[in-house]
Amino acid sequence: MLFVFFLWSVGFFFKIGTCTAAQSELRITTILQEPYTMPKGSQLEGFCMDLLSEVAKKLDFKYKVHLVKDGSYGRQDDNGRWNGMVGEVVRGEADLAIAPLTLTAAREKAVGMSKPFMQTGISILLRKDISEGTGFFDFLTPFSAETWIGIIIAYLGTAVCFAIVARVSPSEWSQPQSEQNTFSLPHSLWYAVGALTLQGAGPHPRAFSGRVICCSWWLFAMVILACYFSNLSSSKSPESTQLNVKGFEDLAKQDVIEYGCLSASSTLAFFKNSDNPVYRRIFEHMERSKSLVLTMDEGIRRAKEGNFAFIGESVSLDLAVARHCDLVRAHEVVGMRGYSIAATLGSPIIKNLSVAILQLSEAGELAYLQSKWWASSCLEDKAKVTALHPHSLKGMFAVLALGLTLGMLLAVLELASRSRSRAEEEKKSFCRVLTEELSLRFRKNDNNSATKRAQEPAEKETEKA
Ligand code: GLU
Repeated sequence: MLFVFFLWSVGFFFKIGTCTAAQSELRITTILQEPYTMPKGSQLEGFCMDLLSEVAKKLDFKYKVHLVKDGSYGRQDDNGRWNGMVGEVVRGEADLAIAPLTLTAAREKAVGMSKPFMQTGISILLRKDISEGTGFFDFLTPFSAETWIGIIIAYLGTAVCFAIVARVSPSEWSQPQSEQNTFSLPHSLWYAVGALTLQGAGPHPRAFSGRVICCSWWLFAMVILACYFSNLSSSKSPESTQLNVKGFEDLAKQDVIEYGCLSASSTLAFFKNSDNPVYRRIFEHMERSKSLVLTMDEGIRRAKEGNFAFIGESVSLDLAVARHCDLVRAHEVVGMRGYSIAATLGSPIIKNLSVAILQLSEAGELAYLQSKWWASSCLEDKAKVTALHPHSLKGMFAVLALGLTLGMLLAVLELASRSRSRAEEEKKSFCRVLTEELSLRFRKNDNNSATKRAQEPAEKETEKA
């Protein structure tokens, strides 16, 4: 009896021992997808690998990672059998599946799933040039509306300054009594446009004050033109892009652009199970045209080749857009969902995994990992091509304003100096001469009266004769 009890005890001990050994090294299944799991030599790295190591530290388990044999996420066939990572967990070939594996009702019935570690939705990935519509006023996109208004105000202000300086400055208009003023307001407007189009529209200002204004305007025009042309060539930014395909309805309505999603994916299941007529049409089209892709990389490659819209999960599509600058993601995002860790149905580890994920999220660890693996290589390009706002050109506007003020001031000084010498010559007060000069230069119909007055003495002499 004692011997039997001894044997049973030894057997029980060994049973526990085997269980603990099996539990101590968990078999993890995952799938290759940038930036979640990527090969690095003989090892694997990426967001999911970092997450796994953090979770393993918290729950104190060892693990061994393998790639899912059939390269799928998990889809249930008509006989109720699962493939992909979900299938491996269901069949006990893996203890956990750590990957961008979407939490769905069907999967939740087959395996245990933790709280999501990342939120996402479904969207569309397209090549920029096939997704763009050419707008009628695309040529205005290099500058923002405020900048255009600023340029028009600067142009009108400069033309008015030209006209004023041309009247005030004696070097520009030395004989207001007899001469015509060549720099009238219409001519000033024409002259300023000439500079803006790099076409000299003479006559040019003769006075120093007028030339100062002229130089600041030319400089302003050159900088504005340089900014305009450099921004025009690269103004096809996602912000300024007018997508022809803005969402799923546009995609379903057309049959020029082919579209598809990952086979054996939750995205395909979303369209298959949906009652929404637009989504059903999309599903039927994908089934009919056999446009499903096997991997995310294949979807991105086909989208880059053109005339193909890849339907996938927005976090992954955003990464593709960040990596490949010729791609763009549609604004519409539908079917919000989350990525979870899958474990065997009923396993107590699910609760612990959820707690660990929540702790990592609350400590900011998940956000840190996301920023680490989602670093973009295309951000600089995006910043470069946005429409220029007035504050980007504020220096140039300030230089022009300075030039205009200086020019006006110089014109007044020129007139003051002439009035002073005339006052000395004619023994009149300086203020009187200055007022006379100003009224002479700013009276209405100066041309006619100047011409008339020029003619008057001649007529008188003829009468006398
Ligand atoms: N995360 C998806 C899944 O678990 C795969 C990607 C997709 O649906 O676009 O099935």
